[in-house]
Amino acid sequence: MTATLLRGGRPWGLGAPADILVEDGLIRRVGPALDAPAARLVDVSGRLVLPGLVEAHCHLDKTLYGGPWVPHSAGDSLAGRIGNDLARRAELGVPSVERIEALLRRMSAFGTTHVRTHTDIDPEAGLRGVEAVREAAGRVPVTVQQVAFPQHGVLTNPGTAELLEEALKSGVEAVGGLDPAGVDRDPVRHLDLIFGLAERYGAHLDIHLHDGGTLGAWELELITERTKALGLGGRVTVSHAYALGQLDDARQDRLAEGFAAAGVALATGAVYDFPVPPVKKMRAAGVVIACGHDGIRDLWGPYGSGDMLERAMHLAYRSTFRTDADIELALEAATYGGARALGLTGYGLSAGDRADLVVVPAAGAAEAVVTHPSRSLVMKDGSVLHN
Ligand SMILES: [Zn+2]
Repeated sequence: MTATLLRGGRPWGLGAPADILVEDGLIRRVGPALDAPAARLVDVSGRLVLPGLVEAHCHLDKTLYGGPWVPHSAGDSLAGRIGNDLARRAELGVPSVERIEALLRRMSAFGTTHVRTHTDIDPEAGLRGVEAVREAAGRVPVTVQQVAFPQHGVLTNPGTAELLEEALKSGVEAVGGLDPAGVDRDPVRHLDLIFGLAERYGAHLDIHLHDGGTLGAWELELITERTKALGLGGRVTVSHAYALGQLDDARQDRLAEGFAAAGVALATGAVYDFPVPPVKKMRAAGVVIACGHDGIRDLWGPYGSGDMLERAMHLAYRSTFRTDADIELALEAATYGGARALGLTGYGLSAGDRADLVVVPAAGAAEAVVTHPSRSLVMKDGSVLHN
């Protein structure tokens, strides 16, 4: 593959302009005034260079993106939204390989290079969603990691546990969970089951936790204990974790300490008016924070663009971040934080890292988040996709 030299950009975190030499899908050298006469030259002078954006929590299989507008009729409660989704998905042709592909192409154009998506697994859908996502992902230069997601419960929905296992056997990278108390009514059995699957198949775990208050806090403790006991640190993520945003300072501090010690990451969408985990406090304690859209244009809600810089802006806004240093934490969630939650290796802007990059016309991280400008260049595995 021909080498590419990105000339004059400002790699995020470096503090000074530097050229980036890319060859065979990897960043080979980073430094001022690099000499590479055989390389294709791309001038990115004065622009901010970021590692590829990481969408750490979405639901590709549910999307209606790319099709005609569908009037929304989602219910007001979690149970209502689950019911609405179940009742209408067949009529609307969900999952659709074409719509998933269209959304992935849009994400890629926005500079997203890695996606973790929760794919519905239930006795009615079987593994249809897994197959549809796999097919679409094969058509777009974005790395997609799937979570086998029991959207309609595990213990309360016989046959689901077996299908989760089948999905893992077929190569799905992570197993999901859903409100072990609020939906499945038996947190100990629910967590034993999904942690057991993660351990047996060497899979990641990513648990949707909407349960709030002290119930949610207790489930967070159970998840932390199991992660520690089974040595699964770095492979466990709790998505949403609304409870965290509702607890007093002392309980937040104790949980943060536990997550950091056990290696439990958090993923947040900062959507609607749902509680957002205290990002600054969690980061100060060393907890990994990732970010994602959750639903994008689906039966759960009409919003979502696929742009992770815009999503980082929502996270910063909902967190009442005003200083550049604070806003930068939101960009970190949409890049390095997501990469750590997904277990990516070779991610970043150093020599030897994979050449997954996005370039934006911004002076720094805070401007990139607040203005989320159009992307100047997107590179995936060393190939320029958008320039
Ligand atoms: Zn979700």
